[in-house]
Amino acid sequence: MAKNIQAIRGMHDVLPEQTARWQFVEQQIREVLGAYGYQEIRLPIVERTELFKRSIGEVTDIVEKEMYSFDDRNGDSLTLRPEGTAGCLRACIEHGLLHNQVHRLWYYGQMFRYERPQKGRYRQFIQLGVETYGMADADIDAELILLSYRLWQRLGISETVELQLNSLGTIAERAVYREQLVEYFTANSEQLDADSQRRLLSNPLRILDTKNPDMQSLVEAAPKLMDFLGAESTAHFKRLTDTLDTLGIAYTLNKRLVRGLDYYSKTVFEWVTTELGAQGTICAGGRYDGLIEQLGGKPNHAVGFAMGMERILALLENREDLDNIQRVDAYMILVGEAAQNAGIVLAEKLRDKLSGLRIQMHCGAASFKSQFKKADKSGAHYALILAEDEVENDTISIKFLRRDEEQRTVSYAELIELLKV
Ligand code: ATP
Ligand code: MG
Repeated sequence: MAKNIQAIRGMHDVLPEQTARWQFVEQQIREVLGAYGYQEIRLPIVERTELFKRSIGEVTDIVEKEMYSFDDRNGDSLTLRPEGTAGCLRACIEHGLLHNQVHRLWYYGQMFRYERPQKGRYRQFIQLGVETYGMADADIDAELILLSYRLWQRLGISETVELQLNSLGTIAERAVYREQLVEYFTANSEQLDADSQRRLLSNPLRILDTKNPDMQSLVEAAPKLMDFLGAESTAHFKRLTDTLDTLGIAYTLNKRLVRGLDYYSKTVFEWVTTELGAQGTICAGGRYDGLIEQLGGKPNHAVGFAMGMERILALLENREDLDNIQRVDAYMILVGEAAQNAGIVLAEKLRDKLSGLRIQMHCGAASFKSQFKKADKSGAHYALILAEDEVENDTISIKFLRRDEEQRTVSYAELIELLKV
């Protein structure tokens, strides 16, 4: 026998028994985003490699080692998108959506990163991305946090996640800080691990992100970016925290939060849980005003976040109430050839008359008993039975599978009335 072909490591199937939960979460997402007036944008999964190099930055984990890049038959270097921000901006610049306009957008879909697969970290994963353009004030930063919080409440996980906040200031403020930081780390270079040695000149802020336990005290004592912010950045951040205070949204200031990507400025935030081990960030984002220009657009404002869907689903693992076993309302049992022929016509009629009714028809010949078992297993409320007698008399029998009521034989018109309620 031929060997089975298996899925690629770190890329997972969502099996039918799990899709009800996914759909539940997706439904909540649509409703919450709708409540704030956000519009969906649909983007390609593949983009030019250059787009990610230019936006994410050459010296980042993603561009250095995580991208799925390949040359297409033309010799162009293409990449499976590792994140959605770059593609979303590319599309908006390309289609002129950013001229004197304000946008609140979202997208949902697969992202690809060549990482070491483990719980909460996959090579293909799904993100919800939310991006806003054209708004400078911190009220939009606050709105993004509020809408994500509303989603946690809807999903029943608001008690298990914590909001961490920081401000990265402007690019100019960060440049001054960067010098101080390099000086500090250079003076303590014997304590840096190999990764950090390498980052010292290329991307020293990333050293603050290190998960190496031996470097924690060094990083803890490093200069804080927050102390280098100018008046405007400080006021912007205060406006955000004041709004969160007013609305009673708790947060922790995390002065080491720098985010992995180069393009952030001012607000950065993460929603973190302790329930998922090392992969605790379920949602991360911030302001990235500089990126639009970097990608060739006119200077403009942007704030957004991305949510890791698998991690959110993992937080809902014990919620069996989300497994909707009832897929269909009615299961049609067809005994004998005449019934099989009549049944397919009748089922179509019922679907015409009762839109929204979910009918599953038994396909293929089988005994009444075996069909009945399937009807019960389907979770349907009704078994609709068509055998020789029924076909002859233009009637149908209905058996109530989930309530205590006698089986009845009725006309088609009566059946439609019965199924309406
Ligand atoms: P991490 O620090 O966990 O590597 P990141 O900074 O690389 O995260 P972002 O690029 O900001 O993550 O992506 C936003 C969110 O997408 C993350 O907070 C996480 O929930 C999710 N995510 C990122 N990478 C993966 C992955 N490989 N598998 C599953 N989810 C992921
Ligand atoms: Mg990462």
